[in-house]
Amino acid sequence: MTKPKLREMPRPDISLTSALGLPAVYVKDARKSFGDKEVLRDVSLQIGRGEVVSLIGPSGAGKSTMLRCLALLDTFDSGELAYGNVRVCANEPGSEKTTYDKAAMRQARMRFGIVFQNYNLFPHYTVLKNVMDAPIVVQRRDPKEVEEQARTLLEQLDIADHADKVPDQLSGGQQQRVAIARALCMNPQVIFFDEATSALDPKLTQDMHRLIRRLAKDGMAVGIVTHEMGFAREVSDRIAFLFDGQIVEEGTPEEVLVHPTDERTKRFLANAE
Ligand code: ADP
Ligand code: MG
Repeated sequence: MTKPKLREMPRPDISLTSALGLPAVYVKDARKSFGDKEVLRDVSLQIGRGEVVSLIGPSGAGKSTMLRCLALLDTFDSGELAYGNVRVCANEPGSEKTTYDKAAMRQARMRFGIVFQNYNLFPHYTVLKNVMDAPIVVQRRDPKEVEEQARTLLEQLDIADHADKVPDQLSGGQQQRVAIARALCMNPQVIFFDEATSALDPKLTQDMHRLIRRLAKDGMAVGIVTHEMGFAREVSDRIAFLFDGQIVEEGTPEEVLVHPTDERTKRFLANAE
């Protein structure tokens, strides 16, 4: 029996998402070109609840493009994207092009948070205001309740003392923790990290490792885009190796990084050492 495609399955009630075992992030056959350059070619990827998945690969492979499309900052040309039971885009039958559903995009935006490489904090807002802004403006939550959660997160991330400073007054590692608090204050089911550790010293990298594992343990799906193999190896449940817009190998860190089978992975790893 062939497995039904997700788009052909009945749309479940939101509360049934995890019971049905739908992945938190579902990407199928995603394609993306800039002009006549194909940057993503039939990329399929899933991240389950409680799972940490890293997308690794050389510079120019398409990692950032993939992340931008997942975060709905850019669009796939073709293919399917769903967050749990919220299907954001899919190809109409017989069509080569994907169609985005605006209402689903709005719903999906409530489900993921993203920590950018350069943190993207509002420079003129205090730390606290950076963290509280989206839950109040986008999610229209009660400011009192949001502030309580924001302060708790700042406490947990060890930056509560800096709540009234502006980002410029903080170190890179502290700014990153503000960016993480900001993402978590949206109560997302999925969190994405772009180059989570590239600016961090070994101690902070270790802290990141612990934090990411804790988020996963709490049931969050974590997607990491990185060129740092050491970190990916330690923190990930699964690694996908992206090369020239294609996932050429996917598996446990051990499978992909220690016993790669694809020549392109082998060559990349040999050069990376
Ligand atoms: P990575 O993050 O893996 O280094 P990127 O996703 O940034 O790779 O880039 C993949 C390819 O797409 C590169 O060849 C890059 O030059 C190209 N590219 C990325 N963004 C754009 C854009 N906005 N316009 C044209 N080409 C782009
Ligand atoms: Mg990149």
